[in-house]
Parts: sequence; C-alpha cells; structure tokens
Amino acid sequence: MSSGTFGRYGGQYVPEALMPALEELEDAYERYVLDNEDGFVDEFRERLRDFGGRPTPLQRAEQLSARYDADVLLKREDLLHGGAHKLNNALGQVLLAKYMGKERIIAETGAGQHGTATAMAAAHLGMPCEVYMGRRDTNRQRPNVFRMRLNGATVNPVDTGRGTLKEAISETMRDWATTVETTHYVIGSVVGPHPFPAMVRDFQSVISEEARAQVRERAGRLPSSVVACAGGGSNTMGAFSAFVPDEGVSLFAVEAGGSSLRVDEERGVAPNSASLSTGSEGVLHGARTRLLQDADGQIVESHSVSSGLDYAGVGPELAHLVEEGRVAPVTVDDDAAIEGFHRLSQEEGIIPALETAHAIAWLEDATPEQLGDCVVVCVSGRGDKDLESVVEETAARDVPNAPDMDVFRGDA
Ligand SMILES: *Cc1c(COP(=O)(O)O)cnc(C)c1O
Repeated sequence: MSSGTFGRYGGQYVPEALMPALEELEDAYERYVLDNEDGFVDEFRERLRDFGGRPTPLQRAEQLSARYDADVLLKREDLLHGGAHKLNNALGQVLLAKYMGKERIIAETGAGQHGTATAMAAAHLGMPCEVYMGRRDTNRQRPNVFRMRLNGATVNPVDTGRGTLKEAISETMRDWATTVETTHYVIGSVVGPHPFPAMVRDFQSVISEEARAQVRERAGRLPSSVVACAGGGSNTMGAFSAFVPDEGVSLFAVEAGGSSLRVDEERGVAPNSASLSTGSEGVLHGARTRLLQDADGQIVESHSVSSGLDYAGVGPELAHLVEEGRVAPVTVDDDAAIEGFHRLSQEEGIIPALETAHAIAWLEDATPEQLGDCVVVCVSGRGDKDLESVVEETAARDVPNAPDMDVFRGDA
C-alpha cells in the first residue's frame, strides 16, 4: 500500500466489497479537503463558525494556574455546538458527502455522542441520517437516542452479540457495503481504514490551529505542553497536530486507566482502555494499530468510567507518534478522573465530560518538568451527559473533594 500508513500503523484492512467506497472517498478527500476544490474548505470553515460557534475560546484557568504554578490554558471545545469536539468531524464528513453527491448518511455510535453530532450535522445540511446503536447502549443512553430522533435521524438498535459499539460498527459496515453508491459512512474518530484517520484528523485540527494562534497572540510564544484525553484519539490528534512540528512543545495523551492496568486473560477483559500504554500491535476496524488483546490476538473487552474513552483500539497516527517518541502516553484511573471532574467543576466553574476529566486529573500527576510554565489542556466536552453516572460513581467511592452526593440521589 502506497498511502494511508503512519510508520507500521494504518492501512486498509477491509473486505473487497468496501474497496471501491474507500477509493472514491480517498479521491474526494484529496480533491475537496486537501485541494479545496469547489471551495469546500471555505464552506466548511464558514459553517463551523456560524453553526458550530467557532472559534472556541482559549481561557486561562485561574485556580488551576495557581495550583500547578504554570499558565493553564483551557481550549474550550465544550463550548462548540453540541457540547463537544465531535461536531468538527461530523460536520466535515456530512458536508463532504454532499459534495460527493451522496444522498444518505449512516453512522455508528456507542454512548451516542457521535451519533448525536452526526444527526445534528445531517439535519443542518438537509441529509437523511441513520444511526446504528447496540440495543444495550440504546437503553443506557436514552437521552442521546431522543436527541438523535429529535434531529430527524433514524436510530437502528442492533441486537446481535452484546449489543454494544462493536456490533454497531459491524452492522454499519454491512449497510455501507451494499449502499456505497448513495451512502457515506461517518466514522467518529481518527480510526478505521485510510483515508478516515487522516481525514478526521484534518477536520479536528482546527482545535490546535486555533489554539496555537491564540497562545501566540496572548503570550507571544508557544506553550510548553499540550494535554488531551485519548479514546480513539480524535480530540487528541486535533489538539496536537499543529504542534507536532514544534519540537519544544511536549504532547501528552491521557488514556483511561480504568480500575487497573492489567489484562485478565482468563475472562478476556482489560479493566482499562489504555491501548497506547499497555496494548500491542494488531488489526482492528480496518487498520493496523495498538489495541487491547489477549495472547491469542483476541480483542479483549475494555473498561472506563467514561464511555467515550471505552474503546479497545486507538488511531494509527497516534500509535505512530507514540512509537516515535513525539507523544507521551500517560494514564489516569477511574478514581482520579472522578476527582478531576469535581476539581474543574468547583475551582473553575466548568463541568467537564468524564473523558475530559482524565486530562484535567493528569495535571495532578505531572511533574513541573513535564508541564513546563504554559500548558494547553483540551476541554473536549461538557459534562451534562455524565451527571447521573457521576452521582453514582462518586457515591460508590471515597472522593475527597466531592460534595455530598446523597442530596442528588434523593435519599437525604
Ligand atoms: C467521544 C469523546 C471523547 C473521545 O473520543 P476521541 O476520538 O478520543 O476524542 C473525548 N471527549 C469527549 C467529550 C467525547 O465526547
């Protein structure tokens, strides 16, 4: 394969039936996204501004800056329309589908965040949208099912297997293989076969392009470090990409350490989602990357208190940047993430997504040398979607900085 690889990672490991679709998408990606044919990039930027609310602010966190003795600058993707960075990618892909002459959008979703962003983008651009979601996930994430339906999308519950993201992905692939002529499959992170990892990175890189210019304008310099949480790695790649050539800027990808970093081979579960820190090389969802697997190469079930980080793989480019030593992977466990959630809420007045709380929490573990004197933290999303699980998860453990949760549970 000549293109679409990042060192040994990436590629196109898909059934033959999907190759024409990927070739067509690769061609469209090059023409519209890379070469701005028909003014695609201009229209994308304009819609990100008017519909999405970009640019998002880069805000100095006063209390955290004092606590860590460094300028802590928050890139506020929680203020993007929809409450997370996901719209950057969903809007880019749905718009691209329109330029390609497609008539229908499909997507898969786990916790429902990507499905919600895709449904919003499809409604905005007047495209019909179908979202596949595991049956179990539709029950666990009812508010997002409502949001998707309110935006006019059809939600297709998937009953096979355990009824989670993995089965939903297989079902969406199956749909795509028979409908490629008319349909675009919007993948939700920097994962999957080429050209998805590169294309999603390009749509998300607006985060670091803005942040880099904003730090320079504010401080007349570059930051010493950038910190972002990593599930599939799209807010991570978005927050890092413009800084990758700046060798003096340290890049930290914060993975979900879950309850333990060890894999339970017998039960086939990893009580974490730290594929960069603890995984090994393999093929998942169309790409060679780092993933959580057992000695026989079977994908193991991952875990995180945050559903958006709960994924057994990671984007191939991020895996490559880690291998090259450009990005340092670090982990934060469930307990520390809950503490990070309460810290940002109380000290800065920002209730973060549980995913984002991992990035915030890692500031506690970082050494002064790692952070340097100016750190940009990507606030990938807001926490409204997580309030119920935060109440449960906080009540279930000893969280030193949390308010009394009984009040919220209605049994006080
Ligand atoms: C989905 C999600 C993530 C994880 O996805 P990435 O592709 O790793 O960015 C992180 N934060 C929020 C708020 C999310 O919704």
